[in-house]
Amino acid sequence: MDRRQFCRTAIAAGVAGSTPWLAGCRPRQPGIAAISLDGSEIELEAAAVRELGEAITGSVMLAGNPEYDTARRIWNGMHDKHPALIVRCLSAEDVSHAVTFARERELLLAVRGGGHSWPGKSVCEGGMMIDLSQMNTVRVDPDQRRAFAQGGALLQGLDNAARQHGLITTAGVVSHTGVGGFTLGGGFGRVNRKYGLAIDNLRSAQLITADGQIRRVSEEQDPDLFWAIRGGGGNFGVVTSFLFRAHPVHTVYAGLTLWRLERAGEILPWYREFLPGAPEELYGFFGFKGVPTSAPFPPALQGRRVCGVVWCYTGPAEQADTAFRPVRALKPDFEHLGHLPFPTLQGFFDGLFPPGLQWYWRGDFVAELTDTAIARHLEYGAQAPSLLSLMHLYPVDGAAGRVGRHDTAFSYREARWNMVIAGVDPDPANRERITAWTRAYWDAVHPHGAGGAYVNFMMDEGEARVRATYRDNYARLAAIKHKYDPQNLFRVNQNIRPAQAFLGEGGET
Ligand SMILES: Cc1cc2nc3c(=O)[nH]c(=O)nc-3n(C[C@H](O)[C@H](O)[C@H](O)COP(=O)(O)OP(=O)(O)OC[C@H]3O[C@@H](n4cnc5c(N)ncnc54)[C@H](O)[C@@H]3O)c2cc1C
Repeated sequence: MDRRQFCRTAIAAGVAGSTPWLAGCRPRQPGIAAISLDGSEIELEAAAVRELGEAITGSVMLAGNPEYDTARRIWNGMHDKHPALIVRCLSAEDVSHAVTFARERELLLAVRGGGHSWPGKSVCEGGMMIDLSQMNTVRVDPDQRRAFAQGGALLQGLDNAARQHGLITTAGVVSHTGVGGFTLGGGFGRVNRKYGLAIDNLRSAQLITADGQIRRVSEEQDPDLFWAIRGGGGNFGVVTSFLFRAHPVHTVYAGLTLWRLERAGEILPWYREFLPGAPEELYGFFGFKGVPTSAPFPPALQGRRVCGVVWCYTGPAEQADTAFRPVRALKPDFEHLGHLPFPTLQGFFDGLFPPGLQWYWRGDFVAELTDTAIARHLEYGAQAPSLLSLMHLYPVDGAAGRVGRHDTAFSYREARWNMVIAGVDPDPANRERITAWTRAYWDAVHPHGAGGAYVNFMMDEGEARVRATYRDNYARLAAIKHKYDPQNLFRVNQNIRPAQAFLGEGGET
């Protein structure tokens, strides 16, 4: 029997019936089969699991619970994992109980924020999944220009709450993405040229570390942890709330311009030159895309591959036409631009990317988009295996690029672009095709990259890639990890391994 079978059989044998907090656990049954941190098979005492359920305000779900299957599913349809137990938390105290339970038993642990991890880092086979999806409250203080979001909130919650007060903070381009994973990796969004990455707007966070402690981290409190979570992903604990700085922006002038693919050889070099010189209020990411077969897209473009730029202008409304004059001079084949509320823009592409599609993606930071690299992009961009498959170049310059490379764990501040290639298809039968295209495309352009990749755009690519991403911040991260998570409890992520020796500035770790 392989490990997966062991888990499913033993979980199924150990559970039946239901209670509100521990549906399916039959207390006098032997134990609940699970997987430990080192991958070995262990058994959890049913009584201990029951006590966990009684100690928290949320619930513990085992296989057999009617909600178990929905709760274990994440957004990328490529992943189908079965945790031994899912702890649906409602408070920081719940999270602390769950973390302590997992640590004491050396139980494999995954943390689910919005569940949008492409490599499936929010769920695990046979371990515990801490599910934050119900911790999704967002509050905005308009006087202080602060936005508070719980660790399981979605970006749309943040965008909408901020909008009610005429405020914006940096959030990603698809609004059903989770605030948690998005922010902890760095957080690129449509205003990062003007206002920086999400981590650059982070004032403080509530963090549950591996010892179960509930901490508030900021520049003043546990500054080493605050430094580490700004780019270090979920390696340092579970963030139960974030406090962001927000900025006054009422409406934006935004949308997209598309050109037939045959014009990509003209448009991509133009974009490379144009955007870095444009005012920081003007944001645009370049992409190779397939055009949906519906309005508002013109029939002549529907179902075809194109290149385009998705724009967001946050400058004065009366200057929008001037800002877009150089874009319109290129006579787009389709233009869809106008004044609109930021959350409306943020939701533009939500429908194109529903949960359950197959996704395989690879990324790289790019310091300079050379002519040779552009030639590779034109070649592979034209060979996309499905309409939804894409390549995007997100700008890293402006406010995001001005932060020092050692000021936060996020290292690649001097990169000009954050590139992602994604093979996407609804049909699992096309999984190999989309994966092969993504890999071949990435192999062709990677030699022209800056070395590392955005952690939120990586698959399981090995320790060397994670190190390449953090560069000389890695040693400090590893030392902080050793101090707060020596057992590497939080390992279902782009993992930073605990390591003792780091003598940073002033000798501190
Ligand atoms: C459709 C789509 C669009 C995207 N667009 C953008 C974009 O515009 N900009 C951008 O920067 N990125 C973007 N991303 C990448 C995105 O930032 C990552 O997928 C991110 O990991 C998603 O966060 P999540 O909370 O939804 O994911 P999850 O799968 O829940 O978590 C991802 C990782 O973060 C950890 N984690 C999540 N929440 C917490 C928490 N509260 N505390 C501790 N650890 C936590 C998880 O354990 C896991 O390791 C996009 C992704 C998708 C799927």
